[in-house]
Amino acid sequence: MEQIGTFGASRTTIRDLQLFRDETDPAIAALVAGCAVVRLASGERIDDGGQARLYIVLAGQLEIASDAHAGEDASEGTSRILPGESAGEQAVLDDAANLAAMTALEDTELLVIEPELVWTLIERSNVLARNLLRLLSFRIRAANALLRRRRKLGEFYRQLSLNDPLTGLYNRAWLNEMLPKLAARAATDGSPLSLVMIDLDHFKRFNDTHGHMAGDAALAAAAGVIRGALRPSDFAVRYGGEEMLAVLPDTPPELAAMVAERLCRRLRLAVVFPDMRLPLPHLTGSFGVASLMAGDDERSLMAAADAALYRAKEAGRDRVCA
Ligand code: GH3
Ligand code: MG
Ligand code: MG
Repeated sequence: MEQIGTFGASRTTIRDLQLFRDETDPAIAALVAGCAVVRLASGERIDDGGQARLYIVLAGQLEIASDAHAGEDASEGTSRILPGESAGEQAVLDDAANLAAMTALEDTELLVIEPELVWTLIERSNVLARNLLRLLSFRIRAANALLRRRRKLGEFYRQLSLNDPLTGLYNRAWLNEMLPKLAARAATDGSPLSLVMIDLDHFKRFNDTHGHMAGDAALAAAAGVIRGALRPSDFAVRYGGEEMLAVLPDTPPELAAMVAERLCRRLRLAVVFPDMRLPLPHLTGSFGVASLMAGDDERSLMAAADAALYRAKEAGRDRVCA
């Protein structure tokens, strides 16, 4: 960073600078004229020695990496400062060290305004004060938009991590996170909570006969039947290969048994067309129902549903046991 002159000696006038746009007072121009102009070679970083200063690009361009932990998309945390635009104004205003790394993207000339002079200029120039406020307001909006984008992206990935891509049902990670909470809430409120555990019948044979692709299509179709037969307040989970679970909050045992019977019947009647060709043979499932009892936690509840499912298999499949 080498000083090559003062602003007064350069061809640029203050009206070319965003912060001084509409400034007509020659006294203000005279104050700025004495400021240093420095040159940075391409790739060179601003070395401010810990002193916050206002920089205005006269020629070339600067890149500001405002967040060292910007994540995967590095472009998200960087911005470019073009001729006429400024950098470092916030550090001057709140008198904090400038944490952002500023690098010249090409040979760049910068006007450097020392903090004391920035304050003098703000006191004397309403135009500058107004331009500065407008610039800060713009920066706040941009920062808020970035935060919103990141939050949305975070939520998107979270949803993705809790859903099973083949069936669109919630997955085991969802179950591990949510079932303890739902069980604890039901235990505290004294509200009923029921599970219907579902295992497709002879699914290995189905795969062996029709192929794994048809098996996948049948599994997705079965999941669709299960989800479509539940209330909006219920949850459908694929927690194993061809093992699914309906989680039914606020549902007593008798009602859960009726829900399970409905699921069993709908699955038996469902027709699966892979690729619009001939329909596949009907699928059936075995269903185990259990409800949260006093002293139960999510593990004993799952074990009870699993035991009921085992009885349904033993009794000949395509049925509900409680
Ligand atoms: P049962 O009636 O006793 O449940 O018999 P089953 O053959 O369904 O039992 P088992 O649990 O032994 O086999 C489950 C089969 O489900 C084995 C596996 O090939 C199949 N399967 C598990 N996940 C998937 C999947 O994502 N896609 C496909 N196509 N098949 C799967
Ligand atoms: Mg199984
Ligand atoms: Mg099975």
